[in-house]
Amino acid sequence: MEVENALIIDTADLDGRDLKVECVWDAGRFPLLGALIAADQVAFGAPVELSLVLKADRELVRAAGRVVTTVELDCGRCLERFGLLIDQTLDLVYQQAASITDSQQEEIELTAEQMDLIAFRGSRIDLRQAVAEQVLLAFPIKPLCNRRCKGLCPRCGMNLNNGPCDCPPREPAGPLAGLKVLLSGGRSD
Ligand SMILES: [Zn+2]
Ligand SMILES: [Zn+2]
Repeated sequence: MEVENALIIDTADLDGRDLKVECVWDAGRFPLLGALIAADQVAFGAPVELSLVLKADRELVRAAGRVVTTVELDCGRCLERFGLLIDQTLDLVYQQAASITDSQQEEIELTAEQMDLIAFRGSRIDLRQAVAEQVLLAFPIKPLCNRRCKGLCPRCGMNLNNGPCDCPPREPAGPLAGLKVLLSGGRSD
């Protein structure tokens, strides 16, 4: 098996036995991740370590294991870049879709999607796409460098994780502040 194609599996190799796939790749070698890195939307602080065992079961192929990497993200509060370890369990199920006609194809692919199956044509399974998708799914919606990140001062913009700034404490604002003025005005009458 060519090194370059270690993640493109020929299902003929799965004939009655498990196939172990292990590789350490730069994230840029995964088509989806490479495009995001090139667009400066994602950065990785470590290679992608992938470890999978593939088993064939009639027209289904199951790939189970894990993917580990470190992604560089900007904190949603303090805006500092930090490294986040991603350690994602993988359980991918591929469905052979080669022996069906094109008119059935759409329907099968729809069914496969509903069942969380990944359709593949011919005898080859390209693991790169689904692995890249699983890495992206592991990204937090709101990345935080630390759950207790204090963020930036809304006045001077200082990173409050490095210590307090010199800004005065904030006055309570909003409808209650207006009410307070109104009440004290009524009393002085
Ligand atoms: Zn932060
Ligand atoms: Zn401040």
